[in-house]
Amino acid sequence: MKVLVPVKRVVDYNVKVRVKSDQSGVDIANVKMSMNPFDEIAVEEATRLKEAGTATEVIAVSCGVAQCQETLRTAMAIGADRAALVQTDVELQPLAVAKLLKAVAEKEQVNLVILGKQAIDDDANQTGQMLAALLGWPQATFASKVVIEGEHAKVTREVDGGLETISVKLPAIITTDLRLNEPRYVTLPNIMKAKKKQLDTLTPEELGVDVTPRIKTLKVSEPPSRKAGIKVADVAGLVDKLKNEAKV
Ligand code: AMP
Repeated sequence: MKVLVPVKRVVDYNVKVRVKSDQSGVDIANVKMSMNPFDEIAVEEATRLKEAGTATEVIAVSCGVAQCQETLRTAMAIGADRAALVQTDVELQPLAVAKLLKAVAEKEQVNLVILGKQAIDDDANQTGQMLAALLGWPQATFASKVVIEGEHAKVTREVDGGLETISVKLPAIITTDLRLNEPRYVTLPNIMKAKKKQLDTLTPEELGVDVTPRIKTLKVSEPPSRKAGIKVADVAGLVDKLKNEAKV
């Protein structure tokens, strides 16, 4: 079973981003970039499937600028066997990424794609679902447990009311939630080994995909700042505030 793991290069989760003065977006110049945390979980899960003998090969793929190669090297240091960069300087929106991933999934003839449930930069939570629709494959989103049973994947999903377990027929799309696993610490020897692994570069044109953006960003602004809270002396004070100020 071949597993494809799409990984996105995003602003590191520790960075507090700032809106550009012209409100055209978020300033990412000189900002630390990392692999989207949900994608690290996806690479870890695919690597565990390989270590268990369930997967035969794990391929990481990233779509974006040349620097995404660093993200792919990290994926290979965690355990991906090889990687592919679909290189473009065009700003990629989820539908364009899904179309590129469909082309790569078909080219590589994979049986499973494990994506993150969302990218922490735009919080779109769309790519996995769109990819499933484009490929016509079943999807199991927000996975907190994955068990491959023959031709099927049994996936426990985090849903509003608790946990739901479903079985999807392979080939399928899975998206990862936070509790699926804890990604391993990347060791120096594995970083060195990853440098020697195969990293191919493709272009959207080679894959026959038009990645022109279809959504236009009109303006990006900071959320309104919240007023400082106060401490109430006792329960009676709290009830009074709730009744008279919050109008509960
Ligand atoms: P999103 O729909 O943008 O929230 O992203 C969901 C998931 O799709 C991410 O966690 C990645 O696994 C994948 N993805 C999104 N954008 C890219 C990209 N540019 N390159 C590779 N994978 C991506």
